[in-house]
Amino acid sequence: MNYNRRTFIKTTATGSAAVVLSPQLGFSAAKSPSVKVLNPRNRAPVSLIIDDSTTLVNLAHFGIPQFAEVFPDNYKQDWRKLPREIPDSFVREFAEWSEDNGIKGKYSIVPYPACTGWVNRFIPGWTERELKESLNLVREMIMPNWDIHPEMISHTRVIDIKTGRPFEQATPDFMENWEWSQNKSADELAAYQSYALNILKDAGLPCEGITTPGGYAGQNQDNLALATLESVRDVFGAEIPHYFRNLYTEKGKSVAPEVLHASGLDGPNPKCVVSINGCTGDWFGGWDGLNRGDANKFITSDLQTGRMVDVIESKEPAIMVCHWPGIYYNGEKVGFNIFKEVVNRLNQKYDHLIWMKLSDISRYWAAKELTVINVSKNSIHLKAPFASPDFTIKVDAKTKNPGIKNGIPFNEVQKKTDLKPNTFYTNKTETILCFDLKKGEMEIEI
Ligand SMILES: [Zn+2]
Repeated sequence: MNYNRRTFIKTTATGSAAVVLSPQLGFSAAKSPSVKVLNPRNRAPVSLIIDDSTTLVNLAHFGIPQFAEVFPDNYKQDWRKLPREIPDSFVREFAEWSEDNGIKGKYSIVPYPACTGWVNRFIPGWTERELKESLNLVREMIMPNWDIHPEMISHTRVIDIKTGRPFEQATPDFMENWEWSQNKSADELAAYQSYALNILKDAGLPCEGITTPGGYAGQNQDNLALATLESVRDVFGAEIPHYFRNLYTEKGKSVAPEVLHASGLDGPNPKCVVSINGCTGDWFGGWDGLNRGDANKFITSDLQTGRMVDVIESKEPAIMVCHWPGIYYNGEKVGFNIFKEVVNRLNQKYDHLIWMKLSDISRYWAAKELTVINVSKNSIHLKAPFASPDFTIKVDAKTKNPGIKNGIPFNEVQKKTDLKPNTFYTNKTETILCFDLKKGEMEIEI
């Protein structure tokens, strides 16, 4: 997946091969100066992906009978016993707790949830006022800290985007979760995704990314990436579209965001798309709200082991994955309680977590991968196709009074956990600099 990543650290050279080294920095002639992009503010990015949420509708209740029509043996849940609604009172409770605890992430709004009704028009079974209030709640309480994604159009049947009606056949070939998307061109997928995004636009919910329902485009991932780049830019003009499709739970497997299809990096309209990888399974309450999860799989009660511990210590973003029906758990809130316990344990163990929306992580990784950095005598020159707040780099040398050229010098901090924009930390061997990276060129004096 590295075919379009660029080597972004360069050293300036004069003459044929001589690298300009700054003696003040203590570089030996045998060793090239090195700059490394660290995590934002040298912290550990964490996030929560919430799938299968929408307004009012419990996607499990309405989706299971449609899945069962296609694969009767696999969907035997007694869906009639599941509540038809996940109430706004629970959305508010979750959003308030999350805000109090600094949680950020992604929250799906399925635009035509299980073909019940349209979030931008009406949903049969609820009043016009209930839908309006539900959308207001998402805008006011969810949007500030969570990216909104469509999870395609219905998450169940494929919709004929010429008529807005589901195709007639209830077969894998006409389900969003399964076959339909596997052989479509990037343009066909982009048209379908744009349809979903436009419903959310009409409902007043801006998006910078999408989430794939079930197995959508699992065997067509190059076209998925291109279609996301195209559709999210077309509908919302988002600068750095992103998507969530894959998660990896095996120890040692990288879950770093993948910056794909970068182009035009030297011009006025640079482009790329970011694939965000989850690092856990749904160990909260399951997609149907019927599978009790286990906080220990994320982090054990003695705080020593668990998937979150592994990924946080690998310094890659640790992004948990859950489904909204499992968080609510038919009113028992099993998934929500597991999430609270996981956050509690993470806070006991770590003091350097930074909760980020998926769009924040995407922007940071695009900047990290695509900014060209040149180290020369007394300065670091950066050429950035994309701006990013909290940009943090490490130079393998001690420095004095670094700062943006012709700007105010950075303030020194004594602890790495105190780093924020326009500060630096230094010891005998390294300097960590934190600043808001500007789009275009900038120079840091060191
Ligand atoms: Zn889903």
